[in-house]
Amino acid sequence: MAKIYDVIVVGGGPAGYTAAMYGARAGLDVLVLEKLSAGGQMAETTLVENYPGFPDGVDGFELGQQMQLQAEKFGAVSEIAQLISAELEGSVKRLVTDSGEFSSRAVILATGAGPRKLDIPGEEKGGVHYCAACDGMRYRGKTVMVVGGGNSAVHEALQLSRIAGKVILVHRRDSLRADKVYHQALMDAPNIEFMWDSAVSALHHEGKLTGVSVINLKNNEEVFVPCDGVFISIGRKPDTEIFRGQLELDRSGYIVAGEDTRASLPGVFAAGDMRTKALRQIITAASDGAVAAHYAGEYIAKGE
Ligand code: NAP
Repeated sequence: MAKIYDVIVVGGGPAGYTAAMYGARAGLDVLVLEKLSAGGQMAETTLVENYPGFPDGVDGFELGQQMQLQAEKFGAVSEIAQLISAELEGSVKRLVTDSGEFSSRAVILATGAGPRKLDIPGEEKGGVHYCAACDGMRYRGKTVMVVGGGNSAVHEALQLSRIAGKVILVHRRDSLRADKVYHQALMDAPNIEFMWDSAVSALHHEGKLTGVSVINLKNNEEVFVPCDGVFISIGRKPDTEIFRGQLELDRSGYIVAGEDTRASLPGVFAAGDMRTKALRQIITAASDGAVAAHYAGEYIAKGE
């Protein structure tokens, strides 16, 4: 008969590997399913500046690797596997992946979130990106556009301003949502321009991206802005579609779970950015992971 793990953690970001470490240290038999490599969204951040203990910042990819090592040091095992479907009801949970089928008594879901898209024509074509750390280097000396006004958009704009010749930040309101701490750095960058109260209405390609139509939302005037690349940074979307119909999700697709991380089925816990919560940060994801491992252990011990 196939092995039944105590806990399967789906997702190897900070929530997933913290859950794995706490679970393993509590004596649980823990398997982590990760589709690519450790770290999740964090691995795409070159410099994480707000994780305690690293006054000079830490590379997100490196931090992800260290979290995996630490969990495995205490006995958690990892499998590179993409989840295809999950049966989460009943006392044995069954997870079907592209690397085979796995079973466990409890499941900690920590699949995180992916980039939200603009959903306009041409978005799937070349020159459109969602991660400056990943693709920014292609635009040395060129003109790029960043869409969005939150902390991520500002991060992307600042990062790109050190590579590109010009960065145009397009935001749909006349002020940024981003934390005040970033505003001055943004204003001080000599090569960042702003288009306020504006939205991208079309992306133009002739073999490659040639430019973007931007509409002023106050007067409805549309202008063509030539640029070589567009970085869309308008928030994240939780990676939860596989669980729709089995678990309660909120309107935006986040798994409904409180601070105890318990989802709507017994033995299923949701940790990190895919759970309903106020603040989505590495530290709150890690915190969720520890909490989820605690309650998963309690659930198994009680034989609920
Ligand atoms: P966010 O804070 O939700 O901001 C999304 C931005 O995109 C907002 O400015 C929003 O405009 C805009 N937007 C949303 N949908 C849009 C659309 N369809 N078209 C045009 N613009 C649209 O998302 P985020 O910046 O990705 O950040 C996510 C979380 O991570 C936040 O909690 C953030 O604080 C955190 N974060 C923290 C750091 C850090 O260093 N502390 C760095 C990155 C991210 P409106 O403002 O008009 O709603």
